[in-house]
Amino acid sequence: MNHHVTTPLATATLERWLTGPRFAGLPAPETAHPAPLLSFEFFPPKTEALEAQLWTCIRRLEPLQPRFVSVTYGAGGTTQARTHATVTRLLRETSLVPAAHLTCVGATREAVDAVARDYWAAGVRHIVALRGDAPPGSRYEPHPSGYSYAAELVAGLRRVADFEISVAAYPEIHPTALSGDHDLDNLKRKLDAGATRAITQYFFDSTIFLRFLDKCLAAGISAPIVPGIMPVSNYAQAAKFSAMCGASVPSWLGPLFEGTEDDPETRRMIAAVIAAEQVRLLQANGVDEFHFYTLNRPDLTYAIARILGVRPAAPAAADTTAAAGTG
Ligand SMILES: Cc1cc2nc3c(=O)[nH]c(=O)nc-3n(C[C@H](O)[C@H](O)[C@H](O)COP(=O)(O)OP(=O)(O)OC[C@H]3O[C@@H](n4cnc5c(N)ncnc54)[C@H](O)[C@@H]3O)c2cc1C
Repeated sequence: MNHHVTTPLATATLERWLTGPRFAGLPAPETAHPAPLLSFEFFPPKTEALEAQLWTCIRRLEPLQPRFVSVTYGAGGTTQARTHATVTRLLRETSLVPAAHLTCVGATREAVDAVARDYWAAGVRHIVALRGDAPPGSRYEPHPSGYSYAAELVAGLRRVADFEISVAAYPEIHPTALSGDHDLDNLKRKLDAGATRAITQYFFDSTIFLRFLDKCLAAGISAPIVPGIMPVSNYAQAAKFSAMCGASVPSWLGPLFEGTEDDPETRRMIAAVIAAEQVRLLQANGVDEFHFYTLNRPDLTYAIARILGVRPAAPAAADTTAAAGTG
């Protein structure tokens, strides 16, 4: 029997493999880049069970030493008390630096300023300043004596205290913006009013983000525009939410999850690979700050942070006498 006979089909296959384009691998994260700066976003829990889940998440991510963690604020200020409670507990019980999200929706300037002053008094030094949205189905209308837009809120917060302020940016343009240029002007106004960084709406196509950075630079923006990373393991939910917030969903994403509705483990593995590819590509392009939408679940964020080269801090020195006693 002749072992060297190759079928025409096999030859064709190898030719196809060998004549296609060759891609160099992405640089090895740890040698090519120092570990990036991370921040993590949480939402305030509504129930005791969700509260427990959040705190498990916080404890798991804490050793990664993010530069800050932020806590969202519900539409129309509905979660004001819960946001406050979560942020102040973070201050009291963890080594983390909390940032409180604050919106303009449905409140007078005085009321918003009072919330900010409370935060300052509690020791909170970082606010994520947002306009917020109207309840689903209605159009946003500024409160007659409120801050109309986030840029005004930033200016107002600067008058209240010396907060560090982050604002939102939209690589795919805010859904109700008059135009891309108008939206970019708005971002610039927010930074000029005193914000020190922008955090982006999440996106799946990294080219869109990188092009947006080019536009920001051309518009005279030099503050960091930190990519918001959303590891997606529930495709149906993400597609629905993306349609509302203006994030485009590439055509390749849905098919990756097809048929995995009852297979959460596979979905999470797919999610990890997609997000890891995304952040590695951004890192290879020089981006070294990332904001993770954790959805109060730590595992994907933890794994992807490790892939970016972030390592947990060593546990605090144990009581050596006790340790010696057990040895
Ligand atoms: C990182 C991040 C975190 C978020 N956290 C929260 C949260 O905790 N709670 C929450 O409710 N929502 C949150 N959001 C959603 C956000 O509130 C909505 O996207 C909202 O629609 C816009 O908020 P903004 O701060 O970007 O608004 P703005 O910067 O005020 O812009 C809103 C829109 O108005 C336009 N605009 C601005 N100024 C003017 C003007 N003078 N005249 C006409 N048009 C103008 C802008 O172009 C844009 O289209 C978050 C979004 C991001 C990206």
